[in-house]
Amino acid sequence: MDTKIIRMEEQHKDGALIREAGEIIRAGGLVAFPTETVYGLGGDALNPASSRKIYEAKGRPSDNPLIVHIADMESLAAIVKSVPETAKKLAEAFWPGPLTMILEKSDRVPRETTGGLDTVAVRMPSDAVALSFIRAAGGYVAAPSANRSGRPSPTCASYVVQDLDGRIEMILDGGDATLGLESTIVDLTVEPPVILRPGFITGEMLRCTLGQVDEDETLFSSGSGQAPKAPGMKYRHYAPKGELVIVRGAAEAVTAYIGGRLAEGRRNRKKTGVIATDETVDKYKADVPRSVGKRTDAAAAAKGLYRILREFDDEGVELIYSESFDGEGVSQAVMNRLLKAAGHKVINV
Ligand code: AMP
Ligand code: MG
Repeated sequence: MDTKIIRMEEQHKDGALIREAGEIIRAGGLVAFPTETVYGLGGDALNPASSRKIYEAKGRPSDNPLIVHIADMESLAAIVKSVPETAKKLAEAFWPGPLTMILEKSDRVPRETTGGLDTVAVRMPSDAVALSFIRAAGGYVAAPSANRSGRPSPTCASYVVQDLDGRIEMILDGGDATLGLESTIVDLTVEPPVILRPGFITGEMLRCTLGQVDEDETLFSSGSGQAPKAPGMKYRHYAPKGELVIVRGAAEAVTAYIGGRLAEGRRNRKKTGVIATDETVDKYKADVPRSVGKRTDAAAAAKGLYRILREFDDEGVELIYSESFDGEGVSQAVMNRLLKAAGHKVINV
């Protein structure tokens, strides 16, 4: 299939091209579209055949459920059994925005969309192109991230092209995703609510609105012995092709340790990479040294991480060492993705 790639200029946002993209979804086809978090691979959430196509295009196991994207609060009531008070409060505070809520699904949502579950993940994105596209598509767009399964989520349209060209009908190019990391997922079907995936809407922000909110135990551990509650968490994610190891400890000890391992890598003729910060990146003799930005700027790290992981693949890097990003708030989201990318390989120095 020929994938039509469309650059979204300001004047096109509500125009004919968005209508065309919407028609593709209504006819059961697939369109990748920008959101403020990462690019999504969209299909009609209420059409089981569309959801099956999403799994196929992504190469994703079909028990890993999709997020249903909506453009207004009225749409929520149709796809869930009931809208609990907690969901109303969170929507008021954080929608449109990078927050996904898990709720009991209504009969209108096919199990193909929810990976066989009785619950549905719902999000209202804030990106202007995303919102007009969802409306044009009929109001309910199921979308996981628009990468091939196992690859880092795409933060710009050219990464979607790399992964999905020829496999879907259209790609809407809205430029770089402003945040660069997937939405926070909070499960509202349990009391107290539980964070299943950390993101820009932090635990502290959720607690300000709801009171007690717990964190799933598998967010920062490999979770052996625990059944993951977001089915997606059991799969290896975001993995670069090279081996990635995170090094944790006092700043100087980390720099010294990584320096030693890089030297060893060179002796073994391995192509090496480093994930560091502006403060430290020049200290490393790696083939592909990369900084995520200033150590205190977690938002910059969130925005740059997936691009860096893809660059290592493009450069054929075989061995990657990363500094650790321990802290509160958005740092936790960065560390959660980094741990997944590393398959939880962490060395404490
Ligand atoms: P992605 O958009 O690629 O990040 O994938 C969507 C994520 O949402 C996956 O990690 C899913 O496991 C998670 N998810 C979607 N629906 C549910 C649900 N009903 N319950 C728990 N997690 C869900
Ligand atoms: Mg994904």
